[in-house]
Amino acid sequence: MRKVMIAANWKMNTTPREAQTLVSQLLPALDGITGVEVLLCPPFISTVVVSELIKNSGVRLGAQNTYFEDKGAFTGEISPAMLAGMCQYVLLGHSERRGLFGESNQIVNRKIKAAAKHALNPVLCVGESLEDNDAGRTEDVLGAQLRQSLEGISIAEARGLVVAYEPIWAIGTGRAAGGAQANVTIGMLRRTLAGIFDEATAASVRILYGGSANGANIAEFVSQPEIDGALVGGASLKADEFVSMVKQASTAKG
Ligand code: PEP
Repeated sequence: MRKVMIAANWKMNTTPREAQTLVSQLLPALDGITGVEVLLCPPFISTVVVSELIKNSGVRLGAQNTYFEDKGAFTGEISPAMLAGMCQYVLLGHSERRGLFGESNQIVNRKIKAAAKHALNPVLCVGESLEDNDAGRTEDVLGAQLRQSLEGISIAEARGLVVAYEPIWAIGTGRAAGGAQANVTIGMLRRTLAGIFDEATAASVRILYGGSANGANIAEFVSQPEIDGALVGGASLKADEFVSMVKQASTAKG
């Protein structure tokens, strides 16, 4: 049984003080909601303050990125060794990292291996562009992203893996995919995972939908059999809306 996850990607938003305020609004409102794992991914600079605030709650902490070396002359980078113990998850391969910062599947692969070494569960983001979608290349693009990003990852390492399917054309655009359409694509991703690992591993990996998910459409996604939750950008910055999404997700599987 895969536990539903609702993950908040705050991206490059919130000062540490604003992060503190947002968490203090979320925690009492999330208290008592069962059946959903809530993951907050604040900017690096707020990792410490958020980890202190959530330490007695069931809320999980994630980083938005990591480098693949443990330490050294890598100015401006944060290592998995620094995040370990504080974060349980790390977003890797987000389309903004791929598109704006040139991260290839090979770099994402190195990061996944480094995260696994430090017991950080990767949330591997994959997604196709509008052009690829229109040209019918979605399956090929997503398959290559999964296979190349996960090359050399063992079944044991894959145990904590979460995949987020985020069509690039749906991120931050207000143009979400349809629930049924996302369910078909995510089912295809699960079959690809079965080919890379095995059926049991594929059946255990949570696959989230991401891309303009909000309070009005979350139930449409989470009620789908293949969709195990959502990675939420813009709507996760509004406490009331995010809490409403978590509440809806807690009952959406029926
Ligand atoms: C994201 O960046 O992971 C995302 C899904 O953003 P948004 O919800 O704003 O589309």
